[in-house]
Amino acid sequence: MPALRRVLLALAAIALIGVVGALVYGRSFDRGTASLKAASNGRLDLFASVVEGRVRRLEPVPATIQLNPVVVRLLQDPGVAQARPASDYLTRLNAHLGSEAVFVLDVRGTVLASSNARLPDDSRLGEDVAFRPYYLEALAGRATRHFAIGTGGRPGYFVSHPIYDGSRVMGVAVIKIGLAALEQTWGMLGAPALVADANQVVILSSQAPWRYTTMVPLTPDRRVDLHLTRIYGALHLPQFPLRVPLSVDEERQEAKGFISAGDIARQPDPGLPPSPAGYLVLGRSLDGMDWRVLIFTSLASVHQQALLDGVGGAVAAAFLLLLLLYGSQRRRIERQKIVAKQLLEKINAELELEVGRRTQELTDTNVQLRREVAEREQTEKTLRSAQDELVHAGKMAVLGQLAASITHELTQPLGAIRTLSGNAAEFLRRGNAGQAQENLSIMSRLVEQMARIIEPLKSFSRKSVASPEPTDPGRVVEQALFLFQLRLRQDKVSIDNRCPPGRWTVWCDANRLEQVLINLFGNALDAMRESPERRLTIDAAPDTDWLVVHVQDSGKGLSETDLAHLFQPFYTTKASGAGLGLGLVICQDIAAEFGGSLQARNAAGGGAVFSLTIPLWHPAAPAPTPPSP
Ligand code: ADP
Repeated sequence: MPALRRVLLALAAIALIGVVGALVYGRSFDRGTASLKAASNGRLDLFASVVEGRVRRLEPVPATIQLNPVVVRLLQDPGVAQARPASDYLTRLNAHLGSEAVFVLDVRGTVLASSNARLPDDSRLGEDVAFRPYYLEALAGRATRHFAIGTGGRPGYFVSHPIYDGSRVMGVAVIKIGLAALEQTWGMLGAPALVADANQVVILSSQAPWRYTTMVPLTPDRRVDLHLTRIYGALHLPQFPLRVPLSVDEERQEAKGFISAGDIARQPDPGLPPSPAGYLVLGRSLDGMDWRVLIFTSLASVHQQALLDGVGGAVAAAFLLLLLLYGSQRRRIERQKIVAKQLLEKINAELELEVGRRTQELTDTNVQLRREVAEREQTEKTLRSAQDELVHAGKMAVLGQLAASITHELTQPLGAIRTLSGNAAEFLRRGNAGQAQENLSIMSRLVEQMARIIEPLKSFSRKSVASPEPTDPGRVVEQALFLFQLRLRQDKVSIDNRCPPGRWTVWCDANRLEQVLINLFGNALDAMRESPERRLTIDAAPDTDWLVVHVQDSGKGLSETDLAHLFQPFYTTKASGAGLGLGLVICQDIAAEFGGSLQARNAAGGGAVFSLTIPLWHPAAPAPTPPSP
């Protein structure tokens, strides 16, 4: 749609430019034609005055001839004696006037005296011109004048006047005015021109092809008339080659017409050079004569000027349109700028609103995150304490398992103390203070022995929060084994401890490490209960930044199910009350807490091997990151 609109607008603009160009052309053409007309009219007036001056000046001459007594005598008594002086008179008169001929006719139309009587080749004497209108009219008493080609073949303007004898016409005086001089005046007009006589026959013209052509079609009667009067001699009088439509202003005796370039082009011999805009034809009648002068002025220069003006007008219109277009474009761009600015401001405001909303959302999310972090920290704290509780519960469970052997360990010294104290009392009663003192010192040693048994239990059972420190794993192994010494003895378990104290230092919480080892030893002893050979091997081997402690037994080993579920909570194969299935879960948790790990596999020679990886401690070095399992 916009494309169609643009095309229509462009067409309208072109049409407007065209119309303006045409209007300016028309105006300029009219103005040019008017000034051309004025100039042509001026030249026409000049030409007319020249013709009138040349021809009309001599018109009264025939009327004066009758005043001459020689001429009158000749008419009254025609004869050679009178003819000669009359012809002499006429010759002198003719020479004086500069006319072509002056002659006198008798009533029969015969030349009685003539200005050219003495010219042997051109003498008209005795010539019968009764067929001429100037004779016939004058005979009828009317002075007359008209164009005619003379009997000698030369054209001229004949003016006749009756010569009266009283009231009777006794002869006719005629003057023939030559027109050759007029042929010299065409240059004055500066354009093709013609003079047509009363018969509308071109008698004079600057254009040779026009001469003796008729401007109106001649009827057969008229042709017969002209033939009889021989005004144009024996000439055929063809049609004027161009059609000249004239509008005649009778009052001002002016005529105006136009010949188009097409009309000229259509004629094979128009007698006019071609003109792209045709010709302006101006005519006027000559005062007191039946002649009409027509001048043909080319409109080429007017057309050219009008064309220039038209193109100028069109260019100006195009320029004006372009200016308008430029203005409207500028206004449109300004409007678009304003709209774009408003749009930008709106988008900006929306953006700010959105940013505000997002910021609020972010703030809310931030608050929410902080809350969640706090909750998570709280949860972690709760978890940590739950874990600590679990570890402690695990400890308690181990202690429960150890309770029987510990009780057994304590029973012996307790019984001895009971006996020794009874004996001591008896010795005191008997006054044997020395023996009593002996007993008391034995009792004191026994109490210390019991205290040594209980001491590790006390420190083990203490509810502690994990705090890593440089720890000797050999010492922790010894402490754990110590708690099992009765059971090891009872079950006849041989110990192969390859992790002596003082060899390595690891980075962990000693109490927790002891808990892990107690669990592993307890499980190993349980697994070996039915075994014929019971051997517990504790080995330790460094692996770059880590120390791997292996606890190997010679028990029944681990089944597929055991290996799959070993470290899952509440997995146990022990009888109800003997195990909870939490020991290894807690151990793995503690190992992870150290940054290490706990893994289980079957030993090549039977039995199970549990490998605990703990970080080695290097003075002035941070704790290492755990190895990938
Ligand atoms: P509980 O000792 O209460 O059963 P644990 O988590 O310590 O719980 O042990 C889980 C199970 O793993 C045991 O019931 C046992 O079947 C198996 N197990 C642990 N250690 C050994 C071992 N050294 N040899 C064979 N089986 C073992």
